Amino acid sequence: MSAEPDGPPARRTPPRSALVVGGGVSGLVAARDLAARGLRVTLVEAEDHLGGAVGAHQVAGLVLDSGAESFATRSRAVPDLLEELGLGERVVHPNRSGSWLFLPEGAVPAPDSGILGIPADPTAPRLRAALGRAGMLRAGLDRRLPAFVGMTERSLGGLVRARMGERVVDRLVAPFATGVHSAHPDDLDVDAVAPGLRRALREHGSLGAAAGALRRAAPAGANVAGLRGGMNALSETLVHDLERAGVKLVTGYDVIALDRDPRREGWMVIQRQPRHGHKTAVARGELLVMATDGTTAVRLLAGHEAGLQRFAPEAGPQVALATLVVDEPRLDGAPRGTGLLVSEDARGVRAKALTHASAKWDWVREAAGPGRHVLRLSYGRPRTDAAVPPEVALPDDQLIRLALSDASTLMGMPLRPGQLVGADIVRWRSALPRAGVGHARRVADFRRSLAVLPDAVAVGGWLAGTGLASVVADTRSQVRALLAEAGVPDRAAPAASEPARTPPTSTRRKD
Ligand SMILES: Cc1cc2nc3c(=O)[nH]c(=O)nc-3n(C[C@H](O)[C@H](O)[C@H](O)COP(=O)(O)OP(=O)(O)OC[C@H]3O[C@@H](n4cnc5c(N)ncnc54)[C@H](O)[C@@H]3O)c2cc1C
Repeated sequence: MSAEPDGPPARRTPPRSALVVGGGVSGLVAARDLAARGLRVTLVEAEDHLGGAVGAHQVAGLVLDSGAESFATRSRAVPDLLEELGLGERVVHPNRSGSWLFLPEGAVPAPDSGILGIPADPTAPRLRAALGRAGMLRAGLDRRLPAFVGMTERSLGGLVRARMGERVVDRLVAPFATGVHSAHPDDLDVDAVAPGLRRALREHGSLGAAAGALRRAAPAGANVAGLRGGMNALSETLVHDLERAGVKLVTGYDVIALDRDPRREGWMVIQRQPRHGHKTAVARGELLVMATDGTTAVRLLAGHEAGLQRFAPEAGPQVALATLVVDEPRLDGAPRGTGLLVSEDARGVRAKALTHASAKWDWVREAAGPGRHVLRLSYGRPRTDAAVPPEVALPDDQLIRLALSDASTLMGMPLRPGQLVGADIVRWRSALPRAGVGHARRVADFRRSLAVLPDAVAVGGWLAGTGLASVVADTRSQVRALLAEAGVPDRAAPAASEPARTPPTSTRRKD
């Protein structure tokens, strides 16, 4: 954020207004923190609803998460925000029944300790089916290798391969990486997707012990937590609070251009309302927070600093979520725990993951009632040559049929169309940006280049890394730095609000 010596003159009075482009969680959190410091804030969002990848849809009468359904508990970033919003009481932990892997030879239990598929104890009998005898022997070497082995590897795959061998990468870690990050472990920066893992390896001497230590550090021994009623309550409550704080929320306007405001210091954006005759409008603010996807942020900012163009991110994979609500009392026993991650080598299944939501979250089970189940399958594998993965390109009705067939195979019991009481397909474009190797350095370079533009920052998953824990922490720290640099005086922290009682911000009906 530091201005260049030949940059614009330092502002004489602290700014009083701010503009946020993008109304996903990063934009909503940025707007909240700016408004809490007394600024007049305008937030512009292209879609008709706010929340971005954290929203709701309705399937068979159940209001469920349409995107993110949990948050990582490795840091206080999300819990602290939830406390501020009065949502702390609604935090819930997933059931401890564990998850499964679907390998070429069928379904096997996944490691129940460690993180991202890296087992805390690679010699645990539970893993024999997945790794085989030779694979377990190789994985066990991790405990005897000196701590420096693998330390210079920057990718998740490289580090795990060096310590525990190829089979742990292929059988345990790749399904997790594909399911959670839509990327192969060799394409993921270990520091971005598993912060603290390499430091823990140095401290504990083995990768298994490091993964176990990170897992134990999480409350309730679970890597993730959720909210009763769904993570969509986070967006809903943020919106409710912004309205109360007087933030101007403009939805349905696509920002198409970004300019310096000729009338005063600051920024202005040109917005277009595509659904209503391409009407245009202008919004202004002295401070600017770009909280869109990376492609849009770079396109808009590069008009002012051409050097930013080289940071245009690779488009992330397109993904589709198929949510099925089925009547099948035999699923009450949760035969695959909270769900399965599917190995790329498995035949006969095209989904990359299945979440048994009514087994994972008590609130979903209670809402659905006995014998009724919510299964959420995700499609869109990385490393496909097609711009749109073939399953994601299927029309909704065909994708629902495929999901029902995949669910039968994965759950190990036939699920017939007559048992389907509701279904919905939600498609996400560029919503899962890839934190490739060298990500942290690229982000630092991008932010150094952006610093030549006065009073502007960029936030969001494409910079912070996928996941609410990363996005919330990074957004808050960027906004703090922006405010400090602009000389905005401190004010008391915002008071915690009542949980919102308004309907979800992005409920889609389609059952
Ligand atoms: C299917 C799915 C499941 C996920 N599950 C989890 C999970 O369980 N746990 C977890 O921690 N994370 C999960 N994530 C990731 C997490 O949801 C994201 O990292 C986070 O929500 C990203 O927030 P964001 O604000 O950076 O981006 P987004 O939510 O993508 O918001 C960006 C916003 O910018 C808007 N925008 C773009 N261009 C313009 C423009 N020109 N003008 C105006 N507005 C514009 C977009 O419409 C969008 O609303 C999941 C993501 C997806 C897609």
